[in-house]
Amino acid sequence: MSIDSSRAPVALASYDNSPDSLGRALELCEAFSDFSSHHHVMIKPNLVAWDEEFPIAPFGVYTTTRLVEDLVILLKDYGCRRISIGEGSVEIKKGVGTKAAFAGLGYTRLAERYGLELVDFNESKSKAFAVGDDLKLHIAEEALESDFFINMPVLKTHGQTRVSLGLKNLKGCLKKKSKKLCHHPELNLEYCFSHIADFIKPALTVIDGIYALEKGALHFGNAYRKDVIVASKDILGADLLGAHLIGFSGKDIAHFRHYAERRNQSLNLSDYDIRGEDPAAHIKPLKWDWIWTEDNTGPGIFAKMGITGPALPKYDDTLCSGCSPIANMANILVLSAFKGKPLPKVEVLNGKKMQGRAGYDQTVLLGDCIIRANKENGNICHALPVKGCPPAADQVAEALRTAGLDVNIGAYRDYMNGQSVKYQGKEGYESRFFAV
Ligand code: SF4
Repeated sequence: MSIDSSRAPVALASYDNSPDSLGRALELCEAFSDFSSHHHVMIKPNLVAWDEEFPIAPFGVYTTTRLVEDLVILLKDYGCRRISIGEGSVEIKKGVGTKAAFAGLGYTRLAERYGLELVDFNESKSKAFAVGDDLKLHIAEEALESDFFINMPVLKTHGQTRVSLGLKNLKGCLKKKSKKLCHHPELNLEYCFSHIADFIKPALTVIDGIYALEKGALHFGNAYRKDVIVASKDILGADLLGAHLIGFSGKDIAHFRHYAERRNQSLNLSDYDIRGEDPAAHIKPLKWDWIWTEDNTGPGIFAKMGITGPALPKYDDTLCSGCSPIANMANILVLSAFKGKPLPKVEVLNGKKMQGRAGYDQTVLLGDCIIRANKENGNICHALPVKGCPPAADQVAEALRTAGLDVNIGAYRDYMNGQSVKYQGKEGYESRFFAV
């Protein structure tokens, strides 16, 4: 396929600690060729979740507040009068969501300084869009109604979808129920969320690659300083280049394929008009997957430590962001119960479709979905359901204790505190990027 000259260019710029870096990227991709200062702009950063108890190390997880401020300055220079910033963060704990993320990452001050509107998509009215006969996506009205929607994801990998870039970032515009519905037990997660861009139609995608995240999802993963910005009016073009910079071919990403097929759009980067820096100079392949034991009984570390007895099968793509921290907590708690001797035969299930296997004395079911999915499962000798959507952490620990595992909640706290502070004092990891 030859270059489609009608397709919007894709820009790659180095980030050099100045708003000029973003300006260069936007100029190269002709970002504002259809822009009018009368437009109402909606900026959608990635503020995936906020956790006051165990603050998430922000690098590679959140869009840098710095780059959002740079964008606001540029928009103001263009004479733009109405700018909103919208997000629908996951509530890891009830009542701690988008507003907490806005406050914690400096957006409240940013809004005051520049006269911006902050929108919590979780509280918005929504419009429903049918995708085939089986899926209805409820999208926040404000995300649909702006004149110029700017999508600002982070350059990161993801344990369920390999990469989380422009197409995935739009999932934050869904109402909570639709977010959960995307992790559908029969329809594929990536098929579901790949449709959101069809309805929102971002005018511009800017991938913040000041940091890039390996093995990403919520609290976890390893961030690297990368100092690049990718920008395009073509969301798939931006995502293809972003993925390429962290070692992924577009053909390997299912949600890219779904989106591209509907548009008859190429997945070959060579078919796009790439401008600015040479991508080859910025490629650093990143891992995305977490290794599990061969018999699917726990994370790779279980085999290394010689843990026998429990089985915690690997999460699948039906595990949504609400239960994801809980599932990880269960892994850490089971590790904490290991004292060098075989542990009780307990299986711990999560998500929406895992099925309890025979041979376990007890089966802990984490959350309403998995309880429902195993209601009629004859393999289960004794079920320990932990109700909730998501279930509460203390009840999960209690169920594991009831199953005979001497878990230590302090070990989980230590692990999470370690995750929160793991970049402290390291060169290049600067909290100023996430403050105003
Ligand atoms: S129970 Fe867990 S997996 Fe199911 S919808 Fe709720 S948060 Fe998601």
